[in-house]
Amino acid sequence: MNSDKIGFAIKNTNWCNLNCVHCCECSGPNVVPNIMPLNKVEKYITDFNAVKYPKWEYVVFTGGEAMAPYFHNQNTYIPSCLDIATSCNMVPVVKTNATWGTDDRMRKRILNDFAGMAYKHQKLMSLEMSIDEFHDNMNGIVNIISDVVRSTYLAPAVRLALVGLNTVESYIRFLQLVDKMNGQGLFTVINNGELDITIPNLHQVKVFFDLWAMIANVGRAKKNNLGVYKPTGKPEMFTGHCLQIDNHDVAILNNVHREKIQNENLSQIIEKLIARTK
Ligand code: SF4
Repeated sequence: MNSDKIGFAIKNTNWCNLNCVHCCECSGPNVVPNIMPLNKVEKYITDFNAVKYPKWEYVVFTGGEAMAPYFHNQNTYIPSCLDIATSCNMVPVVKTNATWGTDDRMRKRILNDFAGMAYKHQKLMSLEMSIDEFHDNMNGIVNIISDVVRSTYLAPAVRLALVGLNTVESYIRFLQLVDKMNGQGLFTVINNGELDITIPNLHQVKVFFDLWAMIANVGRAKKNNLGVYKPTGKPEMFTGHCLQIDNHDVAILNNVHREKIQNENLSQIIEKLIARTK
């Protein structure tokens, strides 16, 4: 990994249907469900594209719960984000707690939206699902994976990943997830950072997973003494910079700085923030 490249994430909301004890964003169901307007999403992505600093081609949509618009009857919002990012030649990645996977209607809608956008642009659309000991989302994740693997329409279009494995307990949960998928006839093998999931005579799908993600020592993680690294320091395992812009136009680099953007020129903001981390 080239640690000099800068990554980009849009925190489209701070609302979340969960209220996890380790949440470094202090998100939850009682937060006002403000969602970044689409014209701002487009502007930030366009501005990031124009930044001269070396950068990754991904734009991560996160929160709070990035799927919040679906919970608040804004069903075209996330497909529009995927459309905007892809039209700007960036690769959209949506991070989610995946609890909506237990709601049949919502799951079908979201997966079809992702696949529709994938076929429109002829590019994979990525869903990253948190798998850690704090989320009660195992059934949702299994349903989502199961739908994608069993569908010849979804499987080639939706890329799935499991992220946020950060403790021994969460790895045990991950193994339970694998057991559960095997129990559902999804022949699942752990293979070098990927789950290989096969349905005999149909096809195989690979689900990427990352190990030992760290919990930033801010927000409720700090309050509940669950943080693994202090963002004001330089954590050994942390590489690269990630610029986050939230739905209140606050720029955050590596969770170090939390300040209002004075103007919307991301190039200046990045230079300023990177200079402060040196
Ligand atoms: S950790 Fe994720 S799922 Fe949990 S409250 Fe925070 S944003 Fe929501």
